[in-house]
Amino acid sequence: MTSESTSAGSSAGDRAAAPTGERAAPPPEPPEEPAVCDHCGDRFADEHLLALHRGRAHADRLSEAERAAYREAREEERDDLRLFRIKALGLLLLIYFGFIYVYAFVL
Ligand SMILES: [Zn+2]
Repeated sequence: MTSESTSAGSSAGDRAAAPTGERAAPPPEPPEEPAVCDHCGDRFADEHLLALHRGRAHADRLSEAERAAYREAREEERDDLRLFRIKALGLLLLIYFGFIYVYAFVL
């Protein structure tokens, strides 16, 4: 890794460290080759995030492949959100019934 962080790596790091004022904390380890948006030049940690960005920000000028990638990424994101909601609901129910259980024994 140290041998790869030569001139190309440092220039990319300098560009990422430039104050854009959008994000407070960058990820601790930047990706080796960030995914770059062809339309606006924004850089993303992986292709999944880039596909989501293209679908949201440049929906009017996408190729068919980019559109398909966006659809796939959106479905994946939707599944992740659904799983998160189920887990959050489970945790909430656990806390709720935990308090009821404790309350029943305290009184
Ligand atoms: Zn873009």
